Amino acid sequence: MHPIAKLDHQFLWHPFTQMKDWVKREPIIIQSGKGSVLTDVKGRRYLDANSSIWTNLHGHRHPRIDEALRRQLKKISHSSSLGLANEPASELASRLIAAASATPLKPQSSALRKATPAPRPLKKVFFSDDGSTAMEAGIKLATEFAKRTIGIKKPRFLSLEGAYHGDSVGASSMGHIPLFRRSCSSILFECDTVMSPYCYRCPFNKAKPDKADARSYRKCHWECIETIERVFARQRRNGKPYALFTLEPLMQGAAGMIPQPEGWLSQVCDIARRNGTLTLLDEVMTGFGRATTHQLPDGRNELFAFQREGVTPDMVALAKGMTGGYLPMAATLVSQPIFDAFLGEYEDFKTFFHGHSYTANQLGSAAALANLDLLESARVLKHRATLERELRHCLECLWKSPWVGDIRQVGLIAGIELVKEQTKRTPFKLRERIGIRVCESMAHKGVLTRPIGNVIVLMPPFSTTVTQLQTMVSALSESIDETLG
Ligand SMILES: *Cc1c(COP(=O)(O)O)cnc(C)c1O
Repeated sequence: MHPIAKLDHQFLWHPFTQMKDWVKREPIIIQSGKGSVLTDVKGRRYLDANSSIWTNLHGHRHPRIDEALRRQLKKISHSSSLGLANEPASELASRLIAAASATPLKPQSSALRKATPAPRPLKKVFFSDDGSTAMEAGIKLATEFAKRTIGIKKPRFLSLEGAYHGDSVGASSMGHIPLFRRSCSSILFECDTVMSPYCYRCPFNKAKPDKADARSYRKCHWECIETIERVFARQRRNGKPYALFTLEPLMQGAAGMIPQPEGWLSQVCDIARRNGTLTLLDEVMTGFGRATTHQLPDGRNELFAFQREGVTPDMVALAKGMTGGYLPMAATLVSQPIFDAFLGEYEDFKTFFHGHSYTANQLGSAAALANLDLLESARVLKHRATLERELRHCLECLWKSPWVGDIRQVGLIAGIELVKEQTKRTPFKLRERIGIRVCESMAHKGVLTRPIGNVIVLMPPFSTTVTQLQTMVSALSESIDETLG
């Protein structure tokens, strides 16, 4: 066994990993990376088909981001954001607000416009370290906001079935993956749940299974929207509107790559606003061009999923791809009224008493600025659009397999749901470990990704070439055949 593998086995505890199984085999030990390729200590090369768990955007060792970090290293790596400002973080905050506030307002019916309070654009940035901490800040802000503006002492929260917002206590409380909640449910706070629009397995969808994305052939009457209306109405009748509604826009990630049919997001955000509930959109996975390769009417590149539906959320959580996948850094973007609720005389103690040691870290900010430069370039956008199209095209070939139930793609995120029987949508049992086995087989073919249950995730870095993309999909196709016979 490689000496590093021995050290790992002896001293490391890996996240979301049954360590009893882990120590039974020698792990792949990554030594270096370039573009979409990872190389291990034995010189074997792998395609990074899930962008190192959804973080990497432009590939590894990107010259522009590397150079930005080297430049920043010559100045300083970190100074505190408590009582001090710094150059790259201030610039980054202004760039994030500029990128996120460019939301084309979709034309609404005049009746709806009258009933819905005007959206408040995002104006301020609160920095933190990870997706979980970005969510945590948003949850605390909403709690205080509800208390200060409408006098709610014990706020109620709402999120979607299958939601995943991170693993800290607040973020886990807003999450609804039973397996993740179980271990520490006694210390989580209450959060109501409402159905997410999982068209492929929706009880209201009357369509027979077809060889296409279930959203494209669904037969329903938007009962999912009515359900959400009802949940909000019930809460309003109780005299206690929800303080916060959190959701992942356009596609839920850890729930199993569950995409939303067009129009769903803007409708539910409207419902929340009409009911006086703040929306916190979790763009930790979808943000920074992952979910959209479109351009905004003003010619700028659309970077966030919510912009696709012309939505103006009250808060947005950003992390994962924010630094191009280089460093842990996150941000919670908030609207002016939320910020204003924390203003007062010192002795009023209305301050937001919350923060982290590495808040507004300079190295992270420098990487994030270089990431934005790349995302705003026309050349990168063109390639991302090509990749999105090519991915859609390649995935079509998977329909020849009798084990593929649903293929769901949003931008450069794809989930392929494997089933025991296509015509009945029969799921494999979790203990059959089908997803895990398919991904193990893919690793043998030099393609790395991780499943979510029976859903295989493909999320290539934007540096991926069309040939590399084809290799990823054919490795998946062959692995499905080999695993399921
Ligand atoms: C990964 C993820 C999180 C948590 O982010 P961490 O950086 O792991 O804390 C939250 N929300 C979504 C949608 C995610 O994909």
